[in-house]
Amino acid sequence: MGSKKKVGARVKIALCCSECKRKNYTTMKNKKNTADKMEIKKYCPYDRKHTVHKEVKI
Ligand SMILES: [Zn+2]
Repeated sequence: MGSKKKVGARVKIALCCSECKRKNYTTMKNKKNTADKMEIKKYCPYDRKHTVHKEVKI
C-alpha cells in the first residue's frame, strides 16, 4: 500500500519564545540526532530582542 519512505525520525516542531510564549518559528528536527528538547537563541519580534526559544509541538 503506497510507498514506504524513511521519514519516521523527522518531525516538525515549533520554537516558542520563553518570555512571551509565542510560537515564532517552525522547523524540522531529526529525533534520532536531537533527542533532547531544542533550545535556541532567536530573535523575537514581539520582545524585539533575542530570547531563548524552546521546542514545542505544533
Ligand atoms: Zn517573545
